[in-house]
Amino acid sequence: MVGGGPAGLTFARVLHRYGHPVTVLERDPAPDARPPGGTLDLHEGLGQLALDKAGLLGRFEELSRPEGQAMRILDTAGNVLRDWRPGPDDRANPEIDRGQLRDLLLGPLDVRWGRGVAQVLPGTGDGALVRFEDGRQEAFDLVVGADGAWSRVRPALSPVRPHYTGVTLVETSLDDVDTRHPDLARLIGDGSVAVYGANRAVVAQRNSGGHVKVYAKFRAPLDRHPSPDPADTDAERAGLLSLFDGWAEPVLELLRRGTAFVRRPLHVLPVSHTWSHVPGVTLLGDAAHLMPPLGAGANLAMLEGAELAEAVAADSGDLDGVVRAFEERMWARAGGWSRMTTAGLERLVSPDPADALALFDELQPS
Ligand SMILES: Cc1cc2nc3c(=O)[nH]c(=O)nc-3n(C[C@H](O)[C@H](O)[C@H](O)COP(=O)(O)OP(=O)(O)OC[C@H]3O[C@@H](n4cnc5c(N)ncnc54)[C@H](O)[C@@H]3O)c2cc1C
Repeated sequence: MVGGGPAGLTFARVLHRYGHPVTVLERDPAPDARPPGGTLDLHEGLGQLALDKAGLLGRFEELSRPEGQAMRILDTAGNVLRDWRPGPDDRANPEIDRGQLRDLLLGPLDVRWGRGVAQVLPGTGDGALVRFEDGRQEAFDLVVGADGAWSRVRPALSPVRPHYTGVTLVETSLDDVDTRHPDLARLIGDGSVAVYGANRAVVAQRNSGGHVKVYAKFRAPLDRHPSPDPADTDAERAGLLSLFDGWAEPVLELLRRGTAFVRRPLHVLPVSHTWSHVPGVTLLGDAAHLMPPLGAGANLAMLEGAELAEAVAADSGDLDGVVRAFEERMWARAGGWSRMTTAGLERLVSPDPADALALFDELQPS
């Protein structure tokens, strides 16, 4: 298994549950080597089903935040257009911090930290040869590439690389929001607040422990940034504030009080990305079907990890046939989600903000 994200760890954890040995090769030198990122909503029939297959659903229910499903929508003048809150028993898409999910999945797993993979060479004996970034190499029966958007395993199967969607996201954070920024805490509520304007949006999302992630989204060419250097926090903040000039003050405050800024130009693989099957190597999650971040990527990645692990564990001698059948299933399901999220991104960051509101009403009828 290459990659210790949601896909790789779920695959490894389910195989481990069935008593099968699996090695996770992860480039990061340690679990906490970089900030784990924001919160994830795990859907009942996807991410939660995967955790059930790993025997971890009960623990997820203790850790996750059903109240985090709440969603408020404002216009750029700050008027509340929608204020949706989940019912007391609504557990369709509870939120969990990525760090908590990673620790939950890690449990007893054998992860080799600091083992970046440079290249995978199929067709060497029964499996595939893995070349590491430090020059070492090792053969495996099956190499599963769950190494994300810029996968080093993918070139063994497909020449396709992700392309830019035209939308860039700049992420910032607020800490201790309830005590340090009570006005913004009220604006955000228990879950998220989203503000949609023409070709722009600001979304603030509560994580656990009073931490909030704020995402500014806008359409721009890949090389057009709010400021020349994202590490220059003051310049990046000023550049962002001028992009959102004229928006309501409380919304601008979400950006003004942000501590540091990270740029994430959104890239995707083509909808329905597939490849000709190659024995000994396959892909899962973002490595196979990178799509816009509209609440599906981690869910699919985890379910694929769990399903492939179950199929490998049940295999009675035809590992290649098992992987081939899995790929067909994955492509069919991920293709549908890829089309939906691609269309969704067009509507959420659209010249007409009414498109975003209409999408919300379709997904979350009150
Ligand atoms: C802002 C944002 C919000 C999102 N919100 C949601 C959400 O609410 N719900 C949802 O379902 N999805 C969400 N997503 C999408 C989700 O984050 C991804 O789809 C998901 O993380 C994919 O999991 P993965 O395991 O395939 O890849 P990744 O999470 O990218 O994990 C890949 C792992 O592989 C490792 N790696 C990379 N290269 C190598 C290498 N060469 N050798 C060894 N290891 C390597 C990386 O260090 C990493 O640990 C969001 C995405 C973004 C950007």
